[in-house]
Amino acid sequence: MSSIDRARELAHAVAAVRTASGVCRSIQQNLATAARLEKKDKSPVTVADFASQALICATLAEHSAVTAIVGEEDAADLREDGADQMRQQVVANVRRIRGKDVSEEQALAWIDLGGVTPDASTPAFWTLDPIDGTKGFLRGEQYAVALGLLEDGTVSVGVLGCPNLPGPDGRQGALFTAIRGEGAWILPLDGENLSERKAIRVADVFETTGARFCESVESGHSDQDQSSQIAAKLGITAEPVRVDSQAKYAIVAQGIASIYLRLPTRKEYREKIWDHAAGSIVVEEAGGRVTDVTGADLDFSRGRSLEENRGIVASSGAIHDDVIAVVGEFVER
Ligand code: AMP
Ligand code: MG
Repeated sequence: MSSIDRARELAHAVAAVRTASGVCRSIQQNLATAARLEKKDKSPVTVADFASQALICATLAEHSAVTAIVGEEDAADLREDGADQMRQQVVANVRRIRGKDVSEEQALAWIDLGGVTPDASTPAFWTLDPIDGTKGFLRGEQYAVALGLLEDGTVSVGVLGCPNLPGPDGRQGALFTAIRGEGAWILPLDGENLSERKAIRVADVFETTGARFCESVESGHSDQDQSSQIAAKLGITAEPVRVDSQAKYAIVAQGIASIYLRLPTRKEYREKIWDHAAGSIVVEEAGGRVTDVTGADLDFSRGRSLEENRGIVASSGAIHDDVIAVVGEFVER
């Protein structure tokens, strides 16, 4: 039995993700003025990614019993000479929430709390993607704020903020939560507590014919030629639902699609733990299954990446083995 009070951790995680999601939403509404830069791996990062990480790390540092955080971003690029505008915008957004007395160094230090590389000395840690799907965020489309708690290599709590998905009341902005063994839930993103939650459940499908699948908008993140061949073989005729970020997991967890395919585009790429921790527990607790393309369980105990896994297949569960069998015919192992 875990000594961590998961309900308490979930409440803090929800509060942190709600606050960060609100900041991201207002930055997305004023995208033209939002600072952005290109990381060393050529992917984009914005003022919202950094502000979100600073705010969530600050809340966890103050309230969580788990102090280790594995976050996607670090403040190194913000400390560089040319990054003044970006740094000022990040600090301004952090001050909007935390007060005007927050120093620049404090805001950057909060971001750097996410610099942990997990190993045997960190049996419990948070993993955070402050904006998953930054490319979708920049297109004005879907993105997610994703926070997962790992205990002994297993995700035990997950929170996904999806500002551009509809919430339980139909209004824009959804939050998805899960605790291991206790189910998955949708809440309004703008709420104050956990009382407005509704249970979510994957689709009741027992054959793949006629099913719907979802995948990345970005063809560089998942092989779309291969997925269309796999879909045809599975008897899927509908066009794929293409959505950025872990919103795909939320879509499967609610039964809007019953399969999420993420097929490797490069042999050496390893999925990042923050791209899958929160989303995978939401699908599993909604009754679905999540594995890699070979059908192996995701192994979150290998550091910052899923070193032992290739790609991702998530599904509503009953059809999972059928999907894996067909994926295996197409994907190189
Ligand atoms: P999505 O919005 O589902 O396309 O996924 C966005 C995530 O894809 C980012 O957070 C990156 O960490 C991740 N990513 C970057 N390059 C690759 C790649 N070659 N294969 C799979 N995922 C990638
Ligand atoms: Mg991401």
